[in-house]
Amino acid sequence: MRILVVEDEPTLAAQLVEGIKSVGYVVDVAHNGVDGHFMGETEPYDAIVLDIGLPQMDGITVLKKWRAAGHTLPVLILTARDTWREKVAGIDAGADDYLTKPFHMEELLARLRALIRRAGGHATTELVCGPLTLDTRSSRVSVDGTALMLTSHEYRVLAYLMHHPGEIVSRAELTEHIYAQDYDRDSNTVEVFIARLRKKLPPGLIETVRGLGYRLNKAQ
Ligand code: CA
Repeated sequence: MRILVVEDEPTLAAQLVEGIKSVGYVVDVAHNGVDGHFMGETEPYDAIVLDIGLPQMDGITVLKKWRAAGHTLPVLILTARDTWREKVAGIDAGADDYLTKPFHMEELLARLRALIRRAGGHATTELVCGPLTLDTRSSRVSVDGTALMLTSHEYRVLAYLMHHPGEIVSRAELTEHIYAQDYDRDSNTVEVFIARLRKKLPPGLIETVRGLGYRLNKAQ
């Protein structure tokens, strides 16, 4: 899962990046509204954390532009204390959730998980696919109850597939959701992660759909 953080305050931006990375997501960060708007417009994020008070273009305007362009991705806005009008404006502009500063990182992470789950149509914190269970709170995967040891990249690939069970996911799509923007991306490495995952998982769970990509087999 790949998250965009749009926050101009450097310390808070760094804390957000660190906190969000710690639960197995990859993060890009923008420090003003113009960059943030552009990145949200051009990169396929799974969720966005958007500050309202931003230089160059305020968060409400950024959000309105995304929504007007038809982007439905989950957006959590950050508002200043005692500014209920900001919350109303943000929700009216299309925010899915909000947090008031200062906030606890744990709460932000819980809200992000909930947004990503709901966007994928998942009702609970555990995603289940056949013998596989992904606990989105602890970022752990188990097979028939036995914990699976995964590297961070293997986890990201499998977590993305588990958020989209039964769907064909292309290598390009996987690449876009498991690396941050500044990372040297190579879609061939996805094949390597898939091969490693297959060695750790029951046979047949990750199918190759020739010429199209991969599919997590729901039927197992
Ligand atoms: Ca700000």
